[in-house]
Amino acid sequence: MFIDEQVKNLQRRLKNIEDNPRPDLMQSNKLLYEIELEGYLAVQEGWKAGKPFGILGGIEPLTHPMGFEMQGYVEWGDRVRDPMRYYNLAISKIGFPEHSCDRAMTALGLLLSGEVPLPKIIVSRRVPCDPERWSAMAAAKYAGVLFFDLCRLGSTGGENVRCLAEQIAEFIEFAEKSIPGIKYNEEKLIQLLEMDHKAHGYMKDTYELRKKVPCPISPRDSFRVMRLPHRYHNPAKVLEYCRMYHDEMFERAEKGMGSIGEEKLRVAWLATGPYGRSTFDLLVKKGVSLPWFHYGVAAYNFGVLQNDYGDNTYGWKLSPLEELVRLFNYNTWSGQSDVWVDTLIKVCRDLKIDAVVDFLQVGCIVTKNLKRITAQRLKDELGIPTLDIEGRELFGTEAAELEMNKKLEEFIDLCIANKK
Ligand code: SF4
Repeated sequence: MFIDEQVKNLQRRLKNIEDNPRPDLMQSNKLLYEIELEGYLAVQEGWKAGKPFGILGGIEPLTHPMGFEMQGYVEWGDRVRDPMRYYNLAISKIGFPEHSCDRAMTALGLLLSGEVPLPKIIVSRRVPCDPERWSAMAAAKYAGVLFFDLCRLGSTGGENVRCLAEQIAEFIEFAEKSIPGIKYNEEKLIQLLEMDHKAHGYMKDTYELRKKVPCPISPRDSFRVMRLPHRYHNPAKVLEYCRMYHDEMFERAEKGMGSIGEEKLRVAWLATGPYGRSTFDLLVKKGVSLPWFHYGVAAYNFGVLQNDYGDNTYGWKLSPLEELVRLFNYNTWSGQSDVWVDTLIKVCRDLKIDAVVDFLQVGCIVTKNLKRITAQRLKDELGIPTLDIEGRELFGTEAAELEMNKKLEEFIDLCIANKK
């Protein structure tokens, strides 16, 4: 069963760290695994006690302030041991086409498998990722739970913020009326948003590290996605983890611990992370650093998009729900291509990027539509070449890994030769 498996995995990892301490790895990992473990234990307990779970896509910080238990959707699907089993369940039961994005389908199969709690409600949002929204809609339909869809208008201006905040208020009213035990606590939301903001502050600082040549962050650490306090029952502990992670990154940079040594090429990686360890080993062997991983909220997380919590951007002080919308609108994986490409171009300039790898996930209409425009603009505006790779994210096979590494190695060799 999924939840029990996660608990066991994390317990095993923690024991391993205690039994075999590795000074070369991030020491904050231990705290991270403890936090994750506590999260899954809370799910086990809440499920047993019949507490109401909610999947609030795009507005997750409202989960605890409304009295829901936090439930992952795609994040949980990403962690299953045998993704094909859940993917097939979604494809055969509901009839989605086989070329659908495996992340969105695996999450759907997991929810329908009975291995995770059934939420009382699922909330989705119009963009950035339509396959994720379709998957969430199907999950609500086939599991027979309530569904609420939020829009996102075509701008990030003040009008949009007001309109979406009104929709969120409607959602709160609907949930309070429809689900016993649900009651919105605004004070709690404010506290969590403030803690998230502090956590973001720690992340943003690390952008400066990425500018250094050679890049002091190892390729593997570049793919680390930060945790935010609002997701957990003990948000103070998560904030402490963010602080520790930040301090450790700077300390390691000072000692030269994350650096790959002689840096021959600086690469930005887009959309989907590589299959596994061998790709990281290849990058290190070839002297390639990876100062940037470009995904939906990366530009916001690291301060490239500056429009921060508490700022007077729209000419009035935002209400807590409007602040929530501000975050909701930060995802660059949506709308027109300029949001995605403009931020990438800025990052490539800031971080002195030499080349880009664009890993398209099969079925990801979000990034597929962006590929050509991205590669063209990188070439025209910065003279940067792009390697185009395509593959399944969760079904990484040895053959797929070998093929990716072969293409990657050829591309790297060519870029290094051209740089000389
Ligand atoms: S890979 Fe693309 S389609 Fe799939 S969940 Fe991510 S953004 Fe959506």
